[in-house]
Amino acid sequence: MLKLDKIVKTYKTPSIITTALDSVSITFREQEFVAILGPSGSGKTTLLNIIGGLDHYDSGDLILNNQSTKDFKANDWDAYRNNSVGFVFQSYNLINHLSVFENVELGLTLSNVPKDERDKMSKDALTKVGLEDHMYKKPSELSGGQMQRVAIARALVNNPDILLCDEPTGALDSKTSVQIMDLIKELSKEKLVIMVTHNNEIARQYADRIVQFRDGQIVTDNHPYDGAKPTQNFELKKTKLSYWTALKLSWNNLKTKKGQTSITAFASSIGIISIGVVLSLSNGFQNEINRTQTQTLSQFPITIASFASDPTVFSDYEPREEFPDSQEVIAVGDVSEAAIHTNPLDEEYINYIRNIDPELVNNIGFSRNLNLNLLREVDGDIQQVQFSNENPEAQMDRGNMATSMTGVGLNTFPTDSQGNETDFSQENYDLLAGEFPSEATDVVLIIDRDNTTNVYGLTNLGFDVTEDDTLNFDEIIGTEMQLVANNDYYMELPNNQFVPNDDLTEVYKAENNVTIRISGILRAPEEDTLALLSPGIAYSDGLNQLMLQANEASNIVLAQEASDNNVMTNQAFESSSARDTFIGMLGGDAIPSSIYIYPNDFEQKDEILAYLDAWNEGKEQEDQVLYNDLASVVSGLTGSLMNAITYALVAFAAISLVTSMIMIGIITYTSVIQRTKEIGILKALGARKKDITRVFDSETFILGISSGILGVVIAWLLTYPINVAIENLTSLTNVAQLDPGHAVILIIISTVLTVIGGHIPARMAANLDAAEALRMD
Ligand code: ADP
Ligand code: MG
Repeated sequence: MLKLDKIVKTYKTPSIITTALDSVSITFREQEFVAILGPSGSGKTTLLNIIGGLDHYDSGDLILNNQSTKDFKANDWDAYRNNSVGFVFQSYNLINHLSVFENVELGLTLSNVPKDERDKMSKDALTKVGLEDHMYKKPSELSGGQMQRVAIARALVNNPDILLCDEPTGALDSKTSVQIMDLIKELSKEKLVIMVTHNNEIARQYADRIVQFRDGQIVTDNHPYDGAKPTQNFELKKTKLSYWTALKLSWNNLKTKKGQTSITAFASSIGIISIGVVLSLSNGFQNEINRTQTQTLSQFPITIASFASDPTVFSDYEPREEFPDSQEVIAVGDVSEAAIHTNPLDEEYINYIRNIDPELVNNIGFSRNLNLNLLREVDGDIQQVQFSNENPEAQMDRGNMATSMTGVGLNTFPTDSQGNETDFSQENYDLLAGEFPSEATDVVLIIDRDNTTNVYGLTNLGFDVTEDDTLNFDEIIGTEMQLVANNDYYMELPNNQFVPNDDLTEVYKAENNVTIRISGILRAPEEDTLALLSPGIAYSDGLNQLMLQANEASNIVLAQEASDNNVMTNQAFESSSARDTFIGMLGGDAIPSSIYIYPNDFEQKDEILAYLDAWNEGKEQEDQVLYNDLASVVSGLTGSLMNAITYALVAFAAISLVTSMIMIGIITYTSVIQRTKEIGILKALGARKKDITRVFDSETFILGISSGILGVVIAWLLTYPINVAIENLTSLTNVAQLDPGHAVILIIISTVLTVIGGHIPARMAANLDAAEALRMD
């Protein structure tokens, strides 16, 4: 049934070519106990490995039930090893981290035998070798004889036709040897047993047939067989290990070596921990940088005012000779006055501003010189009131004209780049009383962090307060005023002079009046946000628009546009710009006096500046619109500097990533290399290359996920002490924050890297000849 025909096997090493088998021909009976006797190095093990399919012959043929194995594929050999042969080695070759039972069961698992069948078969085999009481021990808890019994049980469990034993008693004392030999003898009653030994006595005592071996050749054979008629046809059942079984096997493996597994997982996780920490730090710093940028920019927006300072005047300035010897004094003009540039702000330019990429702009604020004609009834009296923090007496001095010139900060809500109203106040302010504004006619009172607001702001609204007085929220909320159109507010005297109508009671009831209401009291919240509005009354630009629409063609505006003199005082203006300002105050000019652009960050600011510069390209100096970039003056920070910081942080994270990649790869690599012998055992049991890589891949997969999760959890825990330390050093709170998205990515990276790190050596080991893998120790 098993026939070797002129088998030749040579081993080539760089220095020497050894002919281990030199044209060996021999035929075995279906059932007999053959002892192969020979001195060490004569080729006995090689012969056994070739019979068992652990090693492959160079020439000749191995014939199984009349079937040549010349055309056997790798998986045919795998199936042959799994079903038809059982191996017993001198050094037992048990897998130490599996229990006795699991070692025996392994061959069955590899061929996907169902669980209960596996259980029964393994127990039967263990009972047969007398180990039924030691099934759940580890091999290390057994004696040499017991371990060899386990190996025999493992070889038997699949009920193979051939049992191959390589010096099975070589490592045992004589008493134990006898027991093992008795066991093997017993088995030989129903199988072909081929046993290699150099012990003459044992051979003579137990074997039915003794084959003498020397220098790779058969010298004598005391009971040769001519291999008459073949009996049945040889049948191979293919082995196949499912992914699920592989995963379970790996899980059990890992469970049995908890200590080693946790150390490996922890070692692999160190890289993940460091990236996790670096990422959470860079996240935090990035947020901090962004916040600083937004904050700086909210205080120092890009400003486009009616007047700007023209830097070219300074740069074009030719310095004169210093400390000249001359006896002359030179009269020069004022450079900064010469540098004053009037910005030609017009509708086209405003539209240009509105067309800024909305992505770049956080908010745009418009400020206007517009005067709102407001009347309020206080205790039955009608009074002129205004939205202004200015001392009314100072205003008197300035020209007896109630204006709401915007001093510092904004008093209108910023809009988006299209000029649409946004939820700015809801997003950036806390509502202390009343409601958020919902209509253009709703105005709000902004108070400071300490609930203060300017005393003139209140008196100008008609409230009877002096410094340090307090007002209840209720006294303010719901306060109503009438916004009066110019034609009702001013009357024209016969000398064409315009004066405010002094019958305020009548004006107060004018038909076209619009009712304005203080709808709420707002305060900047405790967390930093955009506190763009200065304390006082704030309202939407929509209210300005209402006023502008009503007054653009009002009598006073038309008269003023036609006259060079001030139509209220009948006196000449100091300058044409003073006249323009006055027309603006009367509502005759829809163009804002200043535009404030609030970018989100410095990089966007740079882009907006480029956009503003593009407007000026190719224009004459006087047609250009010059802006003021306050943030750059104040902080000296530019988008590119901010980017450099960000890149540095990213580079830092990338370096840790690469380091941890290499580390994870190496750790997995070494742990798989250490298990080459185990791979040899799996092969001897009939595992396919695929099965072996599958077992190792699923093991490294579990390991990768665990170390990823472990790393992420540790990194997350570390952010707490790190934050405490940073807070102590810099007073920045909660800087390190692990982004959940990053955490998931890190776990995936850890898994992929670990699987790759393990896959390569597992493939290499699976490609080794089983005989070679087994020789590893
Ligand atoms: P035995 O089992 O009878 O002691 P082996 O079959 O192990 O002998 O070895 C037969 C010969 O082949 C020896 O000379 C040995 O050195 C050589 N040999 C066995 N395996 C290899 C190998 N993998 N590479 C090189 N030489 C080998
Ligand atoms: Mg040997």
